[in-house]
Amino acid sequence: MVRAIVGANWGDEGKGKLTDVLAKDSDIVIRFQGGANAGHTIINEYGKFALHLLPSGICNKGVENVIGPGVALDIEALLKELEEVHKRGVPEPILKVSSRAQILMNCHILLDTYEEERLSDRKFGSTKSGIAPFYSDKAAKVGVQVCHLRDKDMLRERLTASFVKKNVLMEHLYHKPLLDVDEYTEKYFALGQAIKHMVCDTNVLMHEAVKAGKSILLEGQLGALRDPDHGIFPYTTSSSPLAGYATIGAGVPPWAIQEVIAVTKAYSSSVGTGVFPTKMEGEEAEELRKRGGDAGEYGAKTGRPRDVGWFDAVATRYGCMVQGATQCAMTNLDVLAYMDEIKVCVGYEVGGQVSTRFPTTPTLKKVVPVYEVLPGWKEDISQVKRYVDLPENCRNYVEFIEKRIETPIKILSNGPRREEIIYR
Ligand code: GDP
Repeated sequence: MVRAIVGANWGDEGKGKLTDVLAKDSDIVIRFQGGANAGHTIINEYGKFALHLLPSGICNKGVENVIGPGVALDIEALLKELEEVHKRGVPEPILKVSSRAQILMNCHILLDTYEEERLSDRKFGSTKSGIAPFYSDKAAKVGVQVCHLRDKDMLRERLTASFVKKNVLMEHLYHKPLLDVDEYTEKYFALGQAIKHMVCDTNVLMHEAVKAGKSILLEGQLGALRDPDHGIFPYTTSSSPLAGYATIGAGVPPWAIQEVIAVTKAYSSSVGTGVFPTKMEGEEAEELRKRGGDAGEYGAKTGRPRDVGWFDAVATRYGCMVQGATQCAMTNLDVLAYMDEIKVCVGYEVGGQVSTRFPTTPTLKKVVPVYEVLPGWKEDISQVKRYVDLPENCRNYVEFIEKRIETPIKILSNGPRREEIIYR
């Protein structure tokens, strides 16, 4: 059974928690895109972790955790995270790294940082983790794969070719020190040696696992609306967070994915936003931000306060559609317990017309959300274990949304901890 766990919205939907929960009954958890530019929060018997590159199955004994070829691999960040997990008492994890994954290097982080500085108030809200320059290099075929780290001369050759243009930018556009090929060669050769024992052809591993009928989780990063083709371009990321891309970035046959679980929050949140129609302002926003997630709605990577807003059924229906979701998991349902009334955006008004279609970005910037108001349940639900035991207004809220997003909500998360989960 191959299942993809992906975001239906802007990211931070709680995919990490869900992956940690479902990893218990899985053989393999594989990351298929993105890098250390976002965080997946998991809370279990070993404590709380904000994982950036490590797959969220890392705390489950016996699970093989894999970094697939689609990932932007920052080796230093990976080693730091591994050390942290080790220090916190997690049993030695099984971690495999694709020999085809490409290396996110310090030069990518520098270019990302300098570009955001240059753009100033026109910036895209990058986390400055080097993601856009990294994927640009991959597309331009000047990237460095894990397999290139085996041979110093081969590595130097690739870096020499790649640094020619970069150094023109460093000198003339950013007015910064030049990149040094020898320094990078030594550093990344040594980092290659440090991960050598984890490197393998993960494509073979994955195809054999599929053939053997193993239980596999494909763990996405960010969410559908950040997809470069289908999302809110240009406020998107540089690799596809869609389940469709999981087959490429993880290396599994397209026909193998049986379930696509789109994760969504019971309200909306977004960091480094761009456009966000149901955004709350003022005290209302502050209250939800304070109560949301496990410790307030602040970015797991950057600590930036997340924008928060009402559930957006237009955006989420679209997110589920482009994900090809077979089901939804709704997280953070417990957070809404304090509200007397809860609004749900059911349409967008633009130019006097109401539509339930999610438009392209220029139109999205102009829409006015149309809300329906539902009664709150005003009750702590964090101890509830069965769907039938949820307050009626809470079930009505879930079922109201389910109809609007046209995707069955089969999993509900009623707290940040592993055991706070309800299956329907
Ligand atoms: P991810 O990137 O999709 O894994 O999401 P993040 O970890 O960035 O953000 C999700 C936030 O919600 C984290 O603070 C989680 O600890 C928290 N969280 C996940 N599920 C629940 C839930 O059901 N209730 C509450 N209160 N917090 C949750």
